[in-house]
Amino acid sequence: MFKFLLFDLDGTLLQVDMRTFLKEYFRQLGVHLSPVIDPEELKEHLEFATYQMIVNQNPEKTNKEVFWEVFIDLVNLPQDYLESLIDEFYRDRFKNLMPYTQCKPEAPQVMDQAEALNYQLVLATNPVFPSSAIYQRMQWGGVDRYDYRLVTTYENMHFCKPNPCYYLEILEKVGAKPEECLMIGNDVDDDLCAAEVGIKTYLVEDFLINRNQRPFEVDYRGKLKDLPEFLKEAAGASRRT
Ligand SMILES: [Mg+2]
Repeated sequence: MFKFLLFDLDGTLLQVDMRTFLKEYFRQLGVHLSPVIDPEELKEHLEFATYQMIVNQNPEKTNKEVFWEVFIDLVNLPQDYLESLIDEFYRDRFKNLMPYTQCKPEAPQVMDQAEALNYQLVLATNPVFPSSAIYQRMQWGGVDRYDYRLVTTYENMHFCKPNPCYYLEILEKVGAKPEECLMIGNDVDDDLCAAEVGIKTYLVEDFLINRNQRPFEVDYRGKLKDLPEFLKEAAGASRRT
């Protein structure tokens, strides 16, 4: 039935309240960059540049390119210099944010089962972060050691969730048809919009986010711990057909 499983990370495989996490992220990055930028200004500019990245519709520019064009314009510092400071933050200090997340023991169990059943794996986290920040969070969640066909990062993607083009880009990159894929995530807006391009969806209800309290449709739903059984049944169903 499905060949490709697309997994969201934050709130799905890794337990994290992004509001608390981002607050602490801005605080710590603010401290790190305080010799060159006022922390309040930094936060404002980061939020604006991130927003521009999320609404970008230009397929010619990676998220990273969109982010830096906007960000550099606002902060008025040389990009090389600022980028090396930010790289340093991700290398040396990002790990201090780990206590604001919790690994879920079910997450590696789900991935083990998915690999055992020969599903192709995609880590479909919103690509608003550099790969180093994404791989570290995957490690915190115990899901970094799997053989992903694609991990979406701000370097390799041109769109963000909830833009349906984000999902089309995944399909193109891994050579999948929409009906071969299942998007598994906890966010009604960001993850269920995969349905707009014909991808089936599984809502993980452990930490369900429905920012706008909107009614929604989903193909499947359940707890993360229910997924191994679900995947087994889905694989069995496809073998029978
Ligand atoms: Mg999420």
